[in-house]
Amino acid sequence: MTDDSPDIAERKMQFLFALRSRGVTDRRVLHAMEKVDRGLFVRGHFAARAYEDMPLPIACGQTISQPSVVGLMTQALKVSNRDKVLEVGCGSGYQAAILSQLARRVYTVDRHKRLVVEATDVFRKLDLTNITAVTSDGSFGLPDQAPFDRILVTAAAEDPPGPLLAQLKIGGIMVLPVGQSDAVQSLIRVTRTEDGFEYDEMLPVRFVPLVEGLGRDSG
Ligand code: SAH
Repeated sequence: MTDDSPDIAERKMQFLFALRSRGVTDRRVLHAMEKVDRGLFVRGHFAARAYEDMPLPIACGQTISQPSVVGLMTQALKVSNRDKVLEVGCGSGYQAAILSQLARRVYTVDRHKRLVVEATDVFRKLDLTNITAVTSDGSFGLPDQAPFDRILVTAAAEDPPGPLLAQLKIGGIMVLPVGQSDAVQSLIRVTRTEDGFEYDEMLPVRFVPLVEGLGRDSG
């Protein structure tokens, strides 16, 4: 939010208030979300609603997540400025832009090339040089850059995909929605320990499904 008119200032305050009231309390996360303008990631007439706490449609029949869910997922990921992070489901690029404020390096992948191209444009405009966006099927992770300190998945699978578990460092954390696409999904946090994986259930959510293969535009 670059414009400082009273109306924008007011909407910005409401945006941050909504985040706090839904449990986003981590100061670094709030600061990142104050800094990165969600309006740049939403196109057309929905852009006017960018500062409301709701998911909105983006290209390719996908959605940009609800800001409070972005905040809660980012907070649960406990990202440090030494971390290399993988996001599966780049979409508009908004979540990756938030992660880029907190991490050393962010890789974000999407099965739709168009979304990757458009998100890359916004990253360039904002000079977010520590994000690399790639068109690929993220259910296989990103083997070339693995292992990762943190993994965030923003599309729902029935179970945590095996390749993503395998690409998580020991001590690493992955946050993802699991469950069938049209049924209730849960946001879970997986921590990799020396001996295996620990699972915490966080909250009910609703994400678009993790779909195998590339989108039709991405051949
Ligand atoms: N994080 C995004 C919202 C993501 S919506 C944002 O901040 O805007 C979920 C995204 O996951 C969609 O863009 C969809 O194309 C993508 N997706 C679904 N299955 C995928 C897969 N197997 N590999 C990579 N991306 C996938």
